[in-house]
Amino acid sequence: PNNSNNSNNLEPLKFLKKYFGYNEFREGQKEIIEAILSGRDVLGIMPTGSGKSICYQLPAMIFDGMSIVISPLISLMKDQVYLLNQDGINACYINSSLSNKEFFSYLDGIRLGKYKIVYIAPEGMFSKTFLDAISAVDISMVAVDEAHCVSQWGHDFRPSYLKIKKFINSLPASPVVSAFTATATKQVERDILKQLKLSNPLTVKTGYDRGNLYFDVRKNSNKNNDLLEILNNHRDKSGIIYCNTRKNVESVYKLLIKNGYNASYYHGGLKDSIRHKNQENFIEDINPIIVATNAFGMGIDKSNVSFVIHYNMPKNIEGYYQEAGRAGRDGSKGDCILFYSPQDTITNRFLIEKSGDSKSLKSKNFKLLHKMEKYALTSSCYRKFILNYFSDTSKDDMDNCDNCYNCNGNFKEIDISHETYLIMTTLSQLKSRNKSFGKNIIINILKGSNNENIRKYNLDSLESFGSLFSKTKNEIKLILEYLISNEYILTSQGRFPVLELGRNYESILKYNQQVIMKADFRDLNDLSKNIVE
Ligand code: ADP
Repeated sequence: PNNSNNSNNLEPLKFLKKYFGYNEFREGQKEIIEAILSGRDVLGIMPTGSGKSICYQLPAMIFDGMSIVISPLISLMKDQVYLLNQDGINACYINSSLSNKEFFSYLDGIRLGKYKIVYIAPEGMFSKTFLDAISAVDISMVAVDEAHCVSQWGHDFRPSYLKIKKFINSLPASPVVSAFTATATKQVERDILKQLKLSNPLTVKTGYDRGNLYFDVRKNSNKNNDLLEILNNHRDKSGIIYCNTRKNVESVYKLLIKNGYNASYYHGGLKDSIRHKNQENFIEDINPIIVATNAFGMGIDKSNVSFVIHYNMPKNIEGYYQEAGRAGRDGSKGDCILFYSPQDTITNRFLIEKSGDSKSLKSKNFKLLHKMEKYALTSSCYRKFILNYFSDTSKDDMDNCDNCYNCNGNFKEIDISHETYLIMTTLSQLKSRNKSFGKNIIINILKGSNNENIRKYNLDSLESFGSLFSKTKNEIKLILEYLISNEYILTSQGRFPVLELGRNYESILKYNQQVIMKADFRDLNDLSKNIVE
């Protein structure tokens, strides 16, 4: 890169104070900024809210010439440019939302060297007018925001991101390239380095852990009752409630209004002006609670959000952690509560199946969903589960994170050896018939239901048919889910997952090995019959 810049000796900290009004760097920022200023490519993997933007904005200010920021989201660009302009920094954005007049005035500005920072959507990189305008200026750096979009392994793959390297190569002098993301598994990280061909990059990862966030999953519950109970415990606090569909957003919103909560709502079906107003009212705490689809939140910087409730389970952990991470940005306590119901898995599977994605991308998305479901059903530390997902092992030697329901909630030990034996027997008999089924059919077999599928596959002839007749279906389901989450039972991935025998099944079938379930107190109505004190 041509950036052995004469301004290297200028203190980045001075710029931080001058332009952004902050007195010190946050974790990772200084290293990244110094590397970029020395002309080295960087990859920054830092959680939402950790201050990635400054990592490229500040070098852009120090460099001679102009820097280009590639960003996938129109709303995000707008907000960023607005904030930069407020800080007295000349910046603009080029995307499809501009009027002709704005478009040509910004291009003129670029040509005249007016801007230090130009945001562009990846779809616009190769437009002739844009290429023409930037050919008149020196480009010192290209920053790629939301860099995980380049990876098919990420949760938000965008084909246009694959052309970024070609765009960079087409620039006359080779600029420094910096890439940023909040969520990268090892695989996504490798993909970013490969697709963007970063040269000898400095990779900076700050930890994923957000110690002030409390994690909980509510299962098998009446979602509306749970929601009202949680809101009642968060009186006068600001929070986000995410739903998977516009319809759910509206019905949850109505529920809140009916119960006297000061809320607003947000989804892609609303008119721009209303959506914008609802968002503003939330940010300014006129309506401290917002019910929204996942269209809401990118680039929103509201520091006092004290809870994020997912009324429906998201499609993957990346998305979940990013959304949940909008709680507690100011460092104070935040609650992140996921409502899990098997129906959410079915809906998500359906959405993946009917998306226009390639077969291999679909199968990757099924895997990501599978992990998400594992999170929802895990009986061990939620925090460690998430951190391990992102290959962050910093909390591994800690027994108890002390800030998630699985670590400090109320549990009872329940002996489920007998039930486990019967379930395993069923699966093994099905196996010998070369058959496998999903959760519901297995529950129906054990319950002894007389329904169409049971008759169709002749399942009432199984020895274990009806052997858990005295249990409720919900009780059987809870036990199954516990066995799945502890890998006594495995589930296949894909649209219609089936249950298979997992670890220790032989010793369970042969020796009737004891299995103890760590049962959530909140489920005890259903499970009380077997309590071991
Ligand atoms: P990210 O892109 O990583 O989600 P942002 O760049 O939007 O995070 O930064 C989140 C918030 O933190 C912004 O309000 C930003 O101004 C603020 N911030 C960034 N760096 C610092 C710093 N060194 N000191 C104080 N606040 C900072």
